[in-house]
Amino acid sequence: MNKSLIKRLIASMKCGACGQRYEVDNIDVLGHEEDLWFLGVFCPACRTQCLVVMVIKEGRAPEVVTDLTEAELDKFRNVSMASADEVLDMHNFLKNFDGDFSRLFSQKKA
Ligand SMILES: [Zn+2]
Repeated sequence: MNKSLIKRLIASMKCGACGQRYEVDNIDVLGHEEDLWFLGVFCPACRTQCLVVMVIKEGRAPEVVTDLTEAELDKFRNVSMASADEVLDMHNFLKNFDGDFSRLFSQKKA
């Protein structure tokens, strides 16, 4: 999975705060742990910063896991993203998560 493709995926999403589409230039790929990709996005319209976590698996459509507020993003920055415990927590979170993202991506296709 290359970064520009991931950025294009994020750029198809809208800001949760104001509904403006993200722009590729405002997306940072922060890093990844196996299938989990962490992205920082910044909305130029309302200046909201979010952390987006995506699950990207070979042969499957990527899923956006969550987007976090700036405060939560700071919390994330303070923990080591490479920490095995964090990744494990995230995996557990994902296993239990069955939320809105399929809706989000089906909107994209429509
Ligand atoms: Zn916005």
